[in-house]
Amino acid sequence: MSKTHYETIIVGSGFAGLCAGIKLKEKGLLDFVILEQASDVGGTWRDNHYPGAACDVPSHLYSFSFEPNAAWSRKYGTQREILDYLRQCAKKHGLYERIRFNTRASNGRYDQEHGLWHIDTEQGSRLTCRSLVFCKGGMSRAALPDIKGLQDFKGAVFHSARWDHATPLEGKRVGVIGTGASAIQIVPSIVNKVAQMTVFQRTAAWIFPKDDRSYSPLEVSLKTRFPLWERAIRQAYFLRGELLGNGLRFPGFMRSLKPLFIKHLHKQVQDLNLRAKLTPDYLPGCKRILLSNDFYPAMTQKHVSLVTDGIDHITKDGVVTKDGKKHELDVLILATGFVVAETVAPFPLAGLGGVDLNESWAAEGPQAYRGTTVAGYPNMFIIIGPNTGLGHTSMVLMIEAQVGYAVDAIERMHRQGIKSLEVDADKQGAYNRQLQEQLATMVWAKGGCVSWYHTSGGRNTTLWPRSTMSFAAMLREFDIASYKITMLHDGKDQRGQPGVVKLAEVTPLPRRASPG
Ligand code: NAP
Repeated sequence: MSKTHYETIIVGSGFAGLCAGIKLKEKGLLDFVILEQASDVGGTWRDNHYPGAACDVPSHLYSFSFEPNAAWSRKYGTQREILDYLRQCAKKHGLYERIRFNTRASNGRYDQEHGLWHIDTEQGSRLTCRSLVFCKGGMSRAALPDIKGLQDFKGAVFHSARWDHATPLEGKRVGVIGTGASAIQIVPSIVNKVAQMTVFQRTAAWIFPKDDRSYSPLEVSLKTRFPLWERAIRQAYFLRGELLGNGLRFPGFMRSLKPLFIKHLHKQVQDLNLRAKLTPDYLPGCKRILLSNDFYPAMTQKHVSLVTDGIDHITKDGVVTKDGKKHELDVLILATGFVVAETVAPFPLAGLGGVDLNESWAAEGPQAYRGTTVAGYPNMFIIIGPNTGLGHTSMVLMIEAQVGYAVDAIERMHRQGIKSLEVDADKQGAYNRQLQEQLATMVWAKGGCVSWYHTSGGRNTTLWPRSTMSFAAMLREFDIASYKITMLHDGKDQRGQPGVVKLAEVTPLPRRASPG
């Protein structure tokens, strides 16, 4: 019979889940399992295999600080290369044998009496663990647009994150809904295959040239021989990201960058009408800044049209826009993004008193303490939790900081006989009030756009407003004083009696280095 209790259960095996597994192993905390709903590791880099999928953060930075890769073939890694990198990391660190593939966590509830999480899976397993590390990623739930008649479309229709490679595009009339980060990679990659392309744009994006190139074999071999050089390149990208992040604090500064974006647009698009349609009416940075050298040229091709009249409804063979015009299509691609701001848990997760996590957040949207722990949900750590997102630099920096914090907590629980850790609700409230005050002054709030960074109530629940360095510094030590603790005694539960903790017993762990 397979094991049913683990000290730690990790949900997901993308960057975050693999990082958590590696760091637990490093600490000798070996009693863990990773639950993965798919049949391979990789998370978003496994699922987003649409044509042209690539990263818009340089790979020397978009990789683990402890697993540098001198062999990146180009500056901005492709989906395939990043997925291979993650597979290699999983293999090197012996994680494959600790992952239960094709196992989707479907329900979780906290058992206060024993200080344990009960996790059920769709495949019928019933597991328990002391600590739950939630690594399901910020972009795992495709947002299907709520457009009347979508289900009536008789041609092929799929979301960018569920690309159907079996659908031929050659010679077809293809529609793409959306002009976000995914769409601007898809459109140029398929434009020369299709007979006719119609791009439905609701909001124009600010697009900057992508300083991409491939690395020569000589560069790769030099970086392999001199790891300090690879390190220096990473550091340079890190500092560039931190500088841009600082700029986002000042809407005036972002306004001053507008001419650079306009120059790129004007250089690549000569048609005045098309230029006007592609020019955003909000400040750069309010929505994610996109990098591309080939989206604008694709849009200028004769068989491509940009439709900005707004979609009214979809019929069996096309899209009807609000001006009454019908755009006949054979294939419809929904590059319409992900559900991010409103919910975090993809399945019911009942904490203290049986309250479901998403329900407890329903009124104001997700919030956590330091983006990682939530009052009412002891022994649970959310990697890429509320307000940990970035629009300008590597999410791997945030993931490593959060995983370090969670693993410190798990190590303490294990070594010091802690039954449960629950963040103080007042601490969480104060942390979020301060965060929201800062977010209210930034370009995401002041830039004049509507974005998925905000809930329908207008609260920014997704982005981190300061530098990644300050995030890592904040999480460098597990601040146990912010937590309510109950202890295990003599290896047995106290049957609901909280143990008394002398803080002197809870010795601090050494500070960790920054992942920068
Ligand atoms: P996205 O940025 O949210 O873009 C979705 C697009 O669909 C937007 O243009 C949106 O218009 C449009 N849209 C949504 N619903 C619509 C509707 N009902 N009718 C018409 N248009 C609609 O999604 P994404 O492009 O998939 O990117 C999501 C995130 O994934 C990015 O921000 C980024 O974090 C990540 N990503 C990263 C990379 C990378 O290189 N690292 C690449 C791809 C994606 P509005 O703007 O009007 O809402």
